[in-house]
Amino acid sequence: MSYEGILEQSSAGLRQLLKAGEEVIGYIYPHTPLELILAHGLTPSLLRGLPGVSGGFEESLQTFACSYVRNLYSQRTNDQMPSIAGLIFPSNTCDSLHNLSDVWRFRFPDDVVFRLTYPATRHVKDGSIVRYLAKELQLLSDGIEESLDRPFLSENYQRAVSLVGQFREDAQYLYSARVAEPAVLSYTELCRLMRAFLTTPLPAVGLELHNTTSLVHNRIKKMALSSVVTSILKAFKTGHFSQIKKLKSSHRPRIAVAGGMVEPQAIANIITGVRGFIDSILILDLLSFGFKTAFTPPLDVEGDPFEEMAKSILSAPGEPTQEGLGHRMSYLEGLLGPLEVDGLMVFEQSFCDPDEFEAPSIERAASRQGVRTVRIPIDPELSDRSRIEVRIQSFLESFGKT
Ligand code: SF4
Repeated sequence: MSYEGILEQSSAGLRQLLKAGEEVIGYIYPHTPLELILAHGLTPSLLRGLPGVSGGFEESLQTFACSYVRNLYSQRTNDQMPSIAGLIFPSNTCDSLHNLSDVWRFRFPDDVVFRLTYPATRHVKDGSIVRYLAKELQLLSDGIEESLDRPFLSENYQRAVSLVGQFREDAQYLYSARVAEPAVLSYTELCRLMRAFLTTPLPAVGLELHNTTSLVHNRIKKMALSSVVTSILKAFKTGHFSQIKKLKSSHRPRIAVAGGMVEPQAIANIITGVRGFIDSILILDLLSFGFKTAFTPPLDVEGDPFEEMAKSILSAPGEPTQEGLGHRMSYLEGLLGPLEVDGLMVFEQSFCDPDEFEAPSIERAASRQGVRTVRIPIDPELSDRSRIEVRIQSFLESFGKT
């Protein structure tokens, strides 16, 4: 399915939901607590940058606003956004998003806007960070109940923990299976399934992903790769990559993608559009709406909901917006050799400060492991698509495949 087709499919799912009278809460940042929104009987839907949005340089935003934020804001000013009950903005992540939420509130005073403030640090041993974020989540929950008259119901919460937990378990397996044998599922299809769930996290949508996981499971079994996949899955969760079993895949080159909040679907689409290349060469992404979303740890349904959600968010793979650069780089460096990565494409959202600060460290980490890199700025409108394709083509051809 084309990129436009995937976008249309997920928008159609959202439109159907709204037509059926469901109330939707839009979110922007990857580490938004879906379980919390679902516990209030609302549907969380990831709002994404879209191609074909005009006015990407809307004058109300500060000059430092990234292309993603500009695209979202233009969707709102152009009335291209679905009619949602509320919108959650993150705070303490990046200047672009902070500024966007301020301008949004001023410019659209009738919109119901919530703000969730994330802690700057992630690792304080006395538990104060968990308590802080749990309190913020509680405040968000109170705000939702007050503004939308939707209380937090524990039966909804329990269903949500199970639904989102299954989604993550399935996505984690598919990521690990593709590293062992990328041809077992196209990257484009993995992106489509994940996007569908993040846009409309409904049981039926989760079931499609689950059924695909069962199929992939059987294929992996027939290929006698089950133990390899299990070792990769364990390594992704623990960060210890030395125990990964020897890979058997013959697809070369093996390319990984690093970056933050760029669209996985857009990248899959661009790579498959490059002459002579199929998406099996792309073995792994480490993106916010891909790998980092999939490998967010599950919640213990028995624990305090707010503390459990806080722990899960704080234990998810780190973002360029957070502290912990050293940890992120050692994780990256650790996986390159055992996963037999030949090349790393570093995608940066245009004008994203966090991505631009992180990229040189990624290049150095890859270089220490003898892995070639290329840095590619990208925006949601894919306004520079031809040049991006040429850069990718040259990079891939440098591995001797034409
Ligand atoms: S792409 Fe970068 S600058 Fe833009 S919202 Fe995300 S982290 Fe912030």
